[in-house]
Amino acid sequence: ESLDKGLEKSKQNFFTKLNKAVVGKSTVDADVLDELEEVLITSDVGVETTVKIIDRIEERVAKDKYLNTSELNQILREEIAGLLSENNTKDLVDFDIPKVDGPYVILVVGVNGVGKTTTIGKLAAQFKALGKNVILGAADTFRAAAVEQLIMWGERVDVPVVSKGMNTDPAAVAFEAAKRGKEENADVVIIDTAGRLHTKVNLMNELSKIKNVVQKFIPEAPHDVMLVLDGSTGQNAFIQAKEFTKATEVTSLAVTKLDGTAKGGVVIGISDQFKIPVKYIGVGEKVKDLQVFNKTEFVDSFFK
Ligand code: GDP
Repeated sequence: ESLDKGLEKSKQNFFTKLNKAVVGKSTVDADVLDELEEVLITSDVGVETTVKIIDRIEERVAKDKYLNTSELNQILREEIAGLLSENNTKDLVDFDIPKVDGPYVILVVGVNGVGKTTTIGKLAAQFKALGKNVILGAADTFRAAAVEQLIMWGERVDVPVVSKGMNTDPAAVAFEAAKRGKEENADVVIIDTAGRLHTKVNLMNELSKIKNVVQKFIPEAPHDVMLVLDGSTGQNAFIQAKEFTKATEVTSLAVTKLDGTAKGGVVIGISDQFKIPVKYIGVGEKVKDLQVFNKTEFVDSFFK
């Protein structure tokens, strides 16, 4: 399965370190906990979440007086599943979209290179495969490549792309995409935004302008503001999540490029720290490598 393959490096990294931490130890003592803390932090789970997990295990040790190191895997699995549950109360089962009045509108934000355009293309393909009418809006107009790439995805997966070319007003593109989505009774409109972070004010202004024009046609929109993060950047992904959530209300996350990185722990840390559900994860280049994030499958695959 591509999830298993995608998480391979992260798992290898994590369990090699974990095994080292407990070698020759039969009980979980202070030394083991110290080592475990190190393992979690160097696996990109993030400091806050690591401390939380260590505290909980410490509590269990104190309560049971004695904890076998052979039980550590199971305990970590439970704790991590628990943390993920808090923020992903409902596991998405497939690429279905909620029924709403008018097209379901997704605004996609994220810095350059994280896999924003690719994720939109893959999403469009997945929605289309379910028989949904999809319209894409190429509102990342600061970058020629972004507009071209989205148009290419549109052709590849046979989905219309609203575009006015480079350096045009992103809100004008969003306006057109929403208008068309409404007129053509589309199921979903996905709008790629530039989401520049160079100043928070710029980002906020751009997004609120986009929201305003979209709402002229679809009052409840956007239904989702999705932040795309590159999982392979580890701690940088945390920083980006922090910056974006300060500037706008992010309602879901997509974490890409988990294949080929040992930093898969970011999914756990980011989900815990920001209390925003991870909706999709990217575990490869192919369309089906964009997967709906299912916490049970993720934990199962990680601890298999
Ligand atoms: P954007 O600048 O954020 O729009 O980023 P792109 O969509 O252009 O993606 C940058 C690169 O990352 C491209 O080469 C994509 O093929 C690649 N990419 C995106 N998602 C994934 C993923 O889940 N796994 C891998 N291996 N590559 C990915």
